[in-house]
Amino acid sequence: MNIHEFQAKQVLTHFEAPVPRGSMTETVEGAGILAQKMFDTGAAAVVVKAQIHAGGRGKAGGVKLCKSVDEAKAAAQEILGKVLVTPQTGPEGKKVRKLLIEEGSAIERELYLSITLDRAASMPAIIASASGGMSIEEVAATNPEKITTVRVDPLLGLRDFQIKRLNAALGLTGDLAKQGYNLFGVLFQLFLEMDCTLVEINPLVVTKDGKLVCLDAKLNFDDNALYRHADIAALRDPDEEAPLEVEAHKYNLNYIKLDGNVGCMVNGAGLAMSTMDLVQTVGLMPANFLDVGGGANQEMIENAFRILLSDPKVKGVLINIFGGILRCDVLAQGIVAASQKLDLHLPMVIRLEGTNVDQGKKILHDSGLNFTVGENFKDAAEKLKAVMKGVN
Ligand code: GDP
Ligand code: MN
Repeated sequence: MNIHEFQAKQVLTHFEAPVPRGSMTETVEGAGILAQKMFDTGAAAVVVKAQIHAGGRGKAGGVKLCKSVDEAKAAAQEILGKVLVTPQTGPEGKKVRKLLIEEGSAIERELYLSITLDRAASMPAIIASASGGMSIEEVAATNPEKITTVRVDPLLGLRDFQIKRLNAALGLTGDLAKQGYNLFGVLFQLFLEMDCTLVEINPLVVTKDGKLVCLDAKLNFDDNALYRHADIAALRDPDEEAPLEVEAHKYNLNYIKLDGNVGCMVNGAGLAMSTMDLVQTVGLMPANFLDVGGGANQEMIENAFRILLSDPKVKGVLINIFGGILRCDVLAQGIVAASQKLDLHLPMVIRLEGTNVDQGKKILHDSGLNFTVGENFKDAAEKLKAVMKGVN
């Protein structure tokens, strides 16, 4: 799960990591009031920052440094309601509904620091680079030697030689190295305690007055551990998630929207993944990942089918079910009920196997629905290819 930058900075503050002071607002007037307060209490500049669950805002015009209250209000006016398109939002962009009004920092250098899980090494990895700021992806692609990775054994914790390596990678010496020492420890503790999958500070800046400050913050959390963090779970922002994914979440369906045009309905995550492979083997692309789960009932199937079909990109459907706890007749009833309500006329290939498969097939046949039966994986894939021919 993702949270907004202003929320991530509250978590950082709780762990005593240095962040600029700031507050969130949803209105231009609010931005004016907050900016006024900043200037009244010694700020030389304020930054107006779009709050969306995506990076790359700076280059898209979503981050503005302002020297006066009027400038801050004008920036807020411009950014609020705007649809920001960045490399991380996808082409449809994300609408800005919230702003962070923050005290501006005088930047000497922009660095990069993040912690994520290195699954191959089964350890958290701290990644550091002195070339931080807005194009770290480019640095990684063109100058990978400028990026230092330190893998930390969670049982041993962060060790002195590793901290020295990180300080060296970031070019921090003297008092800044001391601040680095504290910050790495704090962020590592945050990563572990909060069950994060990502802590990313880009940029981490050295200010003109010699302070290390987290100027941007991105935190991702492991969904499977959210039950331990009710306060974080409460920060879920449905505005930031794909509408169909939010809808699917309501019915306990595992749905992830993808870019292709074959709507897939499958039970079980493993089968869902191999089904997506299957679709791609015949040169097609899945429109979604959809695992209805092992114990789906007819209502869940209906909802899953409706959600899958409400994606306008879907031009054909592949249903691949292994009936275990979910019986094939229950699945068939769900599909028939949903198809009748939705007036379905897309090509559809269904492969059923397992408990009550004959009853399931009979229900489908008797329904008068237009569909093709795949006898097995390979057959289903080939039939899918055939029915999708000429569909784009
Ligand atoms: P992102 O583009 O979505 O990653 O947004 P960031 O929060 O990283 O901001 C983008 C860029 O704006 C940073 O790399 C800085 O160069 C600049 N920026 C952000 N805050 C300040 C600030 O307080 N002072 C100055 N001078 N620049 C800032
Ligand atoms: Mn950033």
